[in-house]
Amino acid sequence: MSPRPDDPVRPSPIEAIRDDLAAVDTLTAGMTKVTAGFLLQTPRPTLVECGPAVSIQSVIEGIRAHGLDPDDLAYLVISHIHLDHGGGAGDVAEAFPNATIVVHEVGVRHMVDPERLNASSKRVYGPLYDSVYGACTPIDEDRILGVGERETLDLGGGRRLELFQTPGHAKHHIGIFDPDTGDLFVGDSVGVKMPGMDVIRPATPPPDFDYVLAQRSLDTYLSLAPETVHLAHYGAVDPPMEALQEAKDRLEIWMEAAEAAWTDNADLDHVAETLGHRFASEVTDVDGDPDAKGRVELLSGIRSNAMGLVRYLDLKEQGRVAT
Ligand SMILES: [Zn+2]
Repeated sequence: MSPRPDDPVRPSPIEAIRDDLAAVDTLTAGMTKVTAGFLLQTPRPTLVECGPAVSIQSVIEGIRAHGLDPDDLAYLVISHIHLDHGGGAGDVAEAFPNATIVVHEVGVRHMVDPERLNASSKRVYGPLYDSVYGACTPIDEDRILGVGERETLDLGGGRRLELFQTPGHAKHHIGIFDPDTGDLFVGDSVGVKMPGMDVIRPATPPPDFDYVLAQRSLDTYLSLAPETVHLAHYGAVDPPMEALQEAKDRLEIWMEAAEAAWTDNADLDHVAETLGHRFASEVTDVDGDPDAKGRVELLSGIRSNAMGLVRYLDLKEQGRVAT
């Protein structure tokens, strides 16, 4: 499934969404439509999300083949430092020597020295660490911009990106908003909706998932009244305001289901099994698309969601979460 080192690189497909915006399929895990990247074709070209290190050469080759001069990429913006979003950032920094790498301020030290991030990812992903994700390579600190409460990126020609912290899925998550076009890039903070899914599924993994912060971040998105909401997994959800409300509702439903199961028996296996009975049918086979279930299991499996929800409930019981 994943490319071997001697395989020729398959360039990422890049498709126009508009004149100034293109979708980049990062070909994560050797599958299509796993992690979306977005290329903002503004005077200062900007890539949003790059996917993991293992498939990063596809992204780099795809962008080159698309005609972008490697010297011209101004920014790579990563919604959060989980490896399916930013694992290849060090390779992008090397291939595009003028690009500034933009991450939440909490993520900066992990990009400069990824040893701990790589070690913890290896524990979380097991054998998939080597086949799907791969190690982050270090980035010089002077190439990185850490996003505090708010940040504005100058894209040239009067265009800009507004960045702001949107914790909940992870404490190092940011929202990325283009106020001129209304494009809102939300990483994993709205959830996932991939081929074969009729509803948005919340992404509630350990170790950071926080229900109150996640709902608050969704309220922040609603307050922006975006024209388009772009999920990292995978692509636009329509209509945007209804999708954001659906994400809030689905998150509440998952939280309530998890809490009911956890109250009954706080064991992870019990909660995961209960959530599986309730939500597994959300993902259906897609004719002609053998990867439909594999994608969801890779990125937003029920057990991973259960782990984050159980951890949150345990911490809440101990009075250790935001209220
Ligand atoms: Zn993700």
